[in-house]
Amino acid sequence: MSTKTRFAPSPTGYLHVGGARTALFSWLHARKHGGKYVLRIEDTDLQRSTTESINAILEAMTWLGLDYDEGPFYQTRRFDRYNEVIDELLEKNLAYRCNCSRERLDALREGQMQRKEKPRYDGHCRGQLVTDSEPHVIRFRNPVDGCVIIDDQVRGRIVFHNDELDDLIIRRTDGSPTYNLTVVVDDLDMEITDVIRGDDHVNNTPRQVNILKALGKEPPRYAHVPMILGDDGSRLSKRHGAVSVMEYRNQGILPEALLNYLVRLGWSHGDEELFTLDQMVEFFDIKDVNKAASAFNTEKLLWINQHYIKNADPARLARLLSIHLGDLGIDPATGPDLVAVVAEQRERARTLVEMAEISAFFYRDYEDFDEGAAKKHLKAAAQEPLQQLRDRFTLLDDWEKEKLHQAVTEVAGVLGLNMGKVAQPLRVAVTGRAASPGIDITLQLVGKEACLRRIDRALEYIGTRVEENAP
Ligand code: GLU
Repeated sequence: MSTKTRFAPSPTGYLHVGGARTALFSWLHARKHGGKYVLRIEDTDLQRSTTESINAILEAMTWLGLDYDEGPFYQTRRFDRYNEVIDELLEKNLAYRCNCSRERLDALREGQMQRKEKPRYDGHCRGQLVTDSEPHVIRFRNPVDGCVIIDDQVRGRIVFHNDELDDLIIRRTDGSPTYNLTVVVDDLDMEITDVIRGDDHVNNTPRQVNILKALGKEPPRYAHVPMILGDDGSRLSKRHGAVSVMEYRNQGILPEALLNYLVRLGWSHGDEELFTLDQMVEFFDIKDVNKAASAFNTEKLLWINQHYIKNADPARLARLLSIHLGDLGIDPATGPDLVAVVAEQRERARTLVEMAEISAFFYRDYEDFDEGAAKKHLKAAAQEPLQQLRDRFTLLDDWEKEKLHQAVTEVAGVLGLNMGKVAQPLRVAVTGRAASPGIDITLQLVGKEACLRRIDRALEYIGTRVEENAP
């Protein structure tokens, strides 16, 4: 049977990075083996599932580029099929009706807890005749002896003894099927060969295997992926910062950077850190995924993101950057060509949000000088060079970088100053900051009018500073 994997999120929130990594591993496994990838929305928990969450998950999958060959399938549309299987189990006496009252189950549980036993159903209704007309649940008749052996592709062999499992509920009193049943039926019907999922499901696996065997079917292969931890060693949660995939987009992370970062969380290939999607598909092997949990490291994500930003196509970056500029209230159509700006800024930012922040001055006057930069570079000694630059710039008809460069060099020459003493005050004057792309291209892109206006502002600032410091 050719490889088929699935990603089966419960739509009770956004897609978080842990889910995205599981989705990626499943996707890679399918792609590597030339197989198929299924998306299944496990929305049977009607109280907690929402349409917003379904949309958020689909959006995140699209953003990440994790394309699926089948689905999305919705479990809520498959109730007839689940009931068919439950009825089959009932008919074959592999499941039974149970009408144990809440009180009885509570008392049972309490007694077990007191005796320090694992709480489990005692099989009371196994031999009882419970009719269909009274309120009841359906329980799966779990084998009482023997064991379930799972050769997990990540965790190795895991053995569960059947006497530790109980007869789990597969249909609730309200007629709705439960998770372990729906997953089994779906994995079967969808012909899933490899179940790759979070290790919070390990304990469900023997139950699912027992149901499959009762139906006379072979279980798929399993791989349980360990969880992701925060930098303090506890399970990654909102407390540690962003956990939602789309929040990373909002923070200016590129999807390929997030995927590259996620693939390395718990998987490695030699010492390599950077992988294109094709390389991931080529090198990934589910068996190489670590058993131990891995910790999320934001610094590393930023480093990887910077790599992808540096190497991305400027036209694409410009499209993405325009959204982040929009968030700052800037319409890039009102200033220099964004692709040209991106070409200059590509190497200078770790995220697109950072790039938007350091590029804002191309499109509007900065609010204030960076304090440190102004203090260091906008002082009395800068007055003369700035004034001379202003005079030359005013006369310049051809506002392009070679001419601008020439003007700056000439002023430095005339005043006997090194370039830094002229270019740095000019940079702070024009950009408000001490760091920017090369001064000549910066001037060219900012444009003549804005440059002159900002130099005036810097001169004024120096003027007041000089006065304040006067004896
Ligand atoms: N719906 C389950 C979850 O979101 C996953 C079930 C599975 O992969 O078997 O945790």
